[in-house]
Amino acid sequence: MTDATPIPDLICELCRLFYGLGWVSGTGGGISIRGPEGIFIAPSGVQKERMQPEDIYLLDGDALDRAVVRRAPTNPALKISECRPLFFNAYRQRGAGAVIHSHSIWALLAARLFSPDGRPGELRCQGIEMQKGLRGVGCFDTLRVPIIANTAREAELTDSMAAAMDAYPDVDAVIVAGHGVYVWGRDWVQAKTQAECYDYLFRALVEAHRMGLPIVAT
Ligand SMILES: [Zn+2]
Repeated sequence: MTDATPIPDLICELCRLFYGLGWVSGTGGGISIRGPEGIFIAPSGVQKERMQPEDIYLLDGDALDRAVVRRAPTNPALKISECRPLFFNAYRQRGAGAVIHSHSIWALLAARLFSPDGRPGELRCQGIEMQKGLRGVGCFDTLRVPIIANTAREAELTDSMAAAMDAYPDVDAVIVAGHGVYVWGRDWVQAKTQAECYDYLFRALVEAHRMGLPIVAT
């Protein structure tokens, strides 16, 4: 993988890595990357670890209120990912360069610790070195990440995710209760780094809780 890797190839490569981490199993989750040509996004409901570069959509990067297809996959049976409006939240509100959606079990369980009934809430974490991988966060800071309630359809999360982003302008992630997490960055490298750090922190919180360790900030 080099800087010259075409973005559709990069998306396929990253999805295979994310599949190995349990982030995009069962066709869920994914990644979208913005490039000079526009916004690249995967199809809906496909096995993310088996995608090929020709399966990736290219959307107009200036039309962020809807999906304007610049280049569609050759397979006419494919549809654009249901995550599209949520990825666009990060492009529109934060000027993101890439967005990752993970169905990691650690995100799901960590959210359940802080919002047992699945309602909107806030995950808190403090005193962990890996917090330093997140924009503007030090290891002794208290990290606060919004949790939004899940909905029957992915696209129905759009408004509550946008509101959570407005309420937490310093945070590059929104957790969805009973579902997973959206993480973004100025480019795919920062988005990936932050998604990895969040996953580590989520796991640390869950494992600490399981062991009865006082790792969760109050
Ligand atoms: Zn999802």
